Amino acid sequence: MTDPTIVNHLTPASHAVDLCDLPFDDHFVRSLPADPSTVNHPRQVHESCYSWVEPTPVRAPRLLAWSEDLGNVLGVARPVAPTSAAVEVLAGNRLLPGMRPFAACYGGHQFGQWAGQLGDGRAISLGEAIDRVGQRWELQLKGAGPTPYSRRADGRAVLRSSVREFLCSEAMHHLGIPTTRALSLVTTGEPVLRDMFYDGNPQQEPGAIVCRVAPSFVRLGNFELFAARGDAETLRRLADYIIETHFPELGPPSLESYAAWFAEVSRRTAILIAHWMRVGFVHGVMNTDNLSILGLTIDYGPYGWLEPYDPGWTPNTTDASGRRYCYANQPQIGLWNLTRFGHALGPLLAATDGVEQGLDVYRATFERTYRELMAAKLGLAALEDAYDEQLLAELFELLQAVETDWTIFFRKLADVPVDGSADAASDAALIEPLRAAHYAPDALAPRHAARLAAWLRSYIARVRRDPDEPAVRHARMRQANPKFVLRNYLAQQAIDAVEGGDPSLLETLLAVMRHPYAEQPAHEALAEKRPEWARHKPGCSALSCSS
Ligand code: AMP
Ligand code: MG
Repeated sequence: MTDPTIVNHLTPASHAVDLCDLPFDDHFVRSLPADPSTVNHPRQVHESCYSWVEPTPVRAPRLLAWSEDLGNVLGVARPVAPTSAAVEVLAGNRLLPGMRPFAACYGGHQFGQWAGQLGDGRAISLGEAIDRVGQRWELQLKGAGPTPYSRRADGRAVLRSSVREFLCSEAMHHLGIPTTRALSLVTTGEPVLRDMFYDGNPQQEPGAIVCRVAPSFVRLGNFELFAARGDAETLRRLADYIIETHFPELGPPSLESYAAWFAEVSRRTAILIAHWMRVGFVHGVMNTDNLSILGLTIDYGPYGWLEPYDPGWTPNTTDASGRRYCYANQPQIGLWNLTRFGHALGPLLAATDGVEQGLDVYRATFERTYRELMAAKLGLAALEDAYDEQLLAELFELLQAVETDWTIFFRKLADVPVDGSADAASDAALIEPLRAAHYAPDALAPRHAARLAAWLRSYIARVRRDPDEPAVRHARMRQANPKFVLRNYLAQQAIDAVEGGDPSLLETLLAVMRHPYAEQPAHEALAEKRPEWARHKPGCSALSCSS
C-alpha cells in the first residue's frame, strides 16, 4: 500500500507556491492529434484524441474545500482567500501561462452495450503540473461547462455529487487504494437543473466544480473508440504515448511492449478491484469509459460502501434491476471490461496471443491479491488449505444471514480474544466485541449467536496455528480493516450541512478520512453503522446517476 506521508515529506508545505505561480506543461496535447475544429458544439470527432475547449466562466466562485494533503504533494498552497485568483483558476474563470485546455475524446460500453462516442462532456483538463520528483499531474475541472462531447447535457455538476467526488477521492487515497485525487471544491454561485429522481420533477440545485488530479485521465474507452471506427493509426499513437509517458519501464513501443502493457493494465486493474472488495467499495458504474488506463479508481458517481454485507448490493438505483455492478460482480466486470479493451487493442496485439495472456494475468493477480487481502483481514499470514476455504465460506454465510456491517465486523474481529481466556468464555462473551456490527443486535436469534460463536471458536483455533505473534496479527488486521469509510449517509449529512451554509462536517470528514486506520476516539460517531433513518433516505444508502 502507498504511504502518503513519504510523498508529503518531499514537498514541505512551507515551500508551497500559489497555484498561479505553478508552471504547467502540455505534453498530452503536444504529443497527440487534436480535433481541427475549435467550435464548441456537440459533434462526432474523428482521428483526434481531444478537442480544444475553454471552461465557461461562472458567476461567483468560492473555495469550499481544499485537500492540504494533495496540495503538499503538488507544492501548492491553499488559496489565501476564498475568492482569490487561484480560486478563479479552479473555477475555470482564469487560465494560467502554459495551460492549453482540452476535453478528451473517448467511447465506451455502458451497462454492457457499445455506446459509441462519449468523451469529456463536462470535464476540461487545464494542463500538467510536475512535482518535485518529476511526477506529471493533470489538473482537470469537472463541471466546467459544455464541450464538444456534452451531447444534450449542460456540462455542469451539482454540489452534492461534487462533495461526494471530492471527499471519496481523498478517502480512497488514504485507504491506500489507487485513485484520481481531488485538490479543490469550488461553488459556482450558479444553479444547475437536475431531475434527481428521474420522475419528471427537475429542481434547481447549487453548482460546483471539483479540480481532479491524476497522472492521466485516459480510460479503456479512449482506445475502444478508435478501434470501433477502424482508426488503427490514432489508436497506435495514443497507445505509444501512454506507454512512453506512463509505462516507460516496458521499453519503447513494440509488439512485445504492447502485450506487456496490456498485461500490466490487467494486473493493476485486478489489484484495484481486489482492494475495492477488501474495503467494501462498490463503484456503481463500471462502464469501460469509467475504468482508468492506470488502474486508478475514476469517476465517482453513484458509488457506495457495503454496510450490511450483501454480495448483490448495488448503490446505483439505475442498476437496481440488473445488478450488473453489484459488489460481488465487480471482479467479473473488471475481466469483461479488459476483454473489450484487449479486443480494441487487436491491431497491436494480433501477432501475439497477448489478449489471452493479459486476461490470465488479470485472473491470477485478482485471485492472489484477493486471497492475500482476505487473509490480512482475518489476521492470518495466508489462506492455506481447505480448512481456511471453509472458514471463509462460513463467514460469508454468517455475515449475510443477519445484517452485519462489513467494516465494523472486521475491525472488531481484532478485539476477539484468542488467548486461553477464549476457551472458558461463554458464547455471549465471545461474540460481545462483534455486537456493534449487527444492525439489530438485540434481536440476534440465539441460534445465530451460537453459530457465530462456533465460527469464532474455529477461527481462534486457526489463528493459534498461525506462525505470527498476536501483536503482528493485530497490526495486520488494523492495517487491512479501516475503522472509517465514507458511508453514503455521512457524505449526505455533509452535503445537507454544506447546502445549509455549514462546511464543518465536510472538513471533519476530510480530516478523519485522512487516517482511516487510526482509532480517532474523538470521532467514534463517524465509525458507527448506518442509522435506521438513513436506510431508505435518498443519497444515504442508494442513489441515482443524476449528478
Ligand atoms: P458518467 O456516467 O458520469 O461517467 O458520464 C457518462 C458520459 O456522460 C460522459 O461522457 C460524461 O462526460 C457525460 N456527462 C455526464 N454528465 C454530463 C453533463 N452534465 N454534461 C455533459 N456531459 C455529461
Ligand atoms: Mg464517466
